[in-house]
This record gives sequence, C-alpha cells and structure tokens, in this order.
Amino acid sequence: MSDYVIPAPKIPTIPVEGGGEFPVRRVYCIGRNYAAHSIEMGDDPDRDPPFFFQKNPNNLDASGDFPYPSQTSDVHYEVEMAVALKTGGTNISTADALDHVYGYAACLDMTRRDLQGEAKKKGRPWEIGKAFERSGPIGPLQLVSEVGHPDNGRVELLVNDEVQQEGDLNQMIWKVPEMISYLSDFFELEPGDVIMSGTPSGVGPIQKGDVMVVNIAGLNSLTVKVT
Ligand code: MN
Repeated sequence: MSDYVIPAPKIPTIPVEGGGEFPVRRVYCIGRNYAAHSIEMGDDPDRDPPFFFQKNPNNLDASGDFPYPSQTSDVHYEVEMAVALKTGGTNISTADALDHVYGYAACLDMTRRDLQGEAKKKGRPWEIGKAFERSGPIGPLQLVSEVGHPDNGRVELLVNDEVQQEGDLNQMIWKVPEMISYLSDFFELEPGDVIMSGTPSGVGPIQKGDVMVVNIAGLNSLTVKVT
C-alpha cells in the first residue's frame, strides 16, 4: 500500500541480454562527440568542454519500432552507443569511471532536426527536438562481463541496406570514462543512469517504411523500423 494519490508512473526499463530488466533513472546525451574524418583524436588541448542534454527515461524504447513523430517533417537518425551505470557517485575519477558501468547497447538518438534547429537559432532548450516519445530506440543491454568496455571498432548505421553513417568508437572526442567523470562533477550519478555517447558524421532524414540497422563492433545489431 502506498500513499500515492494518482497511479504511480511505471519505471522505464531496458531489457538485458540473457534476461532481466535494467531500470532507467536518467538519460544523459552528449552533443558533438566525434570529429568527422578524424582518425584519432588523442589528447587535444584545444577541445571545448563537452555539453550534455537529456532525454526522458521513458523515451527509451526497445520495441524495434519507431513511430514517425508529430509536429516535424525532418526526423534524423543518430547512431550511438549507450552506457548503462550500475553504481553512481560524485567527483568520480576517470580511473575509476568504468567500474560504474553495468553494460552497453546500440541505440539511436532520434531527433526532430527542424525543431532542434529552430531551438538552436533562438537559444532555446532542445527538448522539443530530442526528448519526445520513443526518441531513443535501444537494443538489449550487454554486460561488461560479456563485452568488456568497447572503445574501438566500427560504428555504422544503414538505412534500407545502405550505409549512411560510419565512424569508429575510437573517434570519440570525450571517451566513456571522461564522460562519466565529467557528468559526476555536475550531477549525482546513480544506478540506472544511461549515457548516450554521441554520433559520428553522416546524420540524415528517415521516412515512414525505412529500416534502420545499427552495427557497433562488439555489440549486437539493432534493427528499427520507421512506422
Ligand atoms: Mn546525439
């Protein structure tokens, strides 16, 4: 028995490969995290600090369908790797950061690009372009004990069997440990937090009927149909 005065919202979850459901608390997404055509970033003293926006936890969707959203005529795919945390904290060092990771999954940061573009131009928040219903198609989480910590290898997105995006995990400007550490300086990270790690170049529009396939080296593929 609870004292909730209305029905409590359901806790959003991501399925886990091999069984079980990962409960999602927050979803942080990094902006611009791949330098296009750059083979290796290494230490770049001139790199700007990273920036993050959020999706809503219940925007994540493992159904394999992406219903074309309302109020837009320019929806873009962004292939990304999701990082799911099993523990959290503040002021986490980069050396300790990976100890907090539960697993990884292929995902998409679907974007109402026209609305995001308007918001950018006017200096407004991005939620209208980024944090809409089912805007985060995601595959089952794969455990660190199974897949390790993927930090290099091909990332690609195919639409109707044609490659539209390609890059390599090693092109991330801000590596996974750095993202965790950076976020933990500003927020209290907790179990259930998910980080979407950015997209390589080649983003573009989809139409109803398209089939998107995400391939990330070391992880299961993700297939999503635009309905
Ligand atoms: Mn993105």
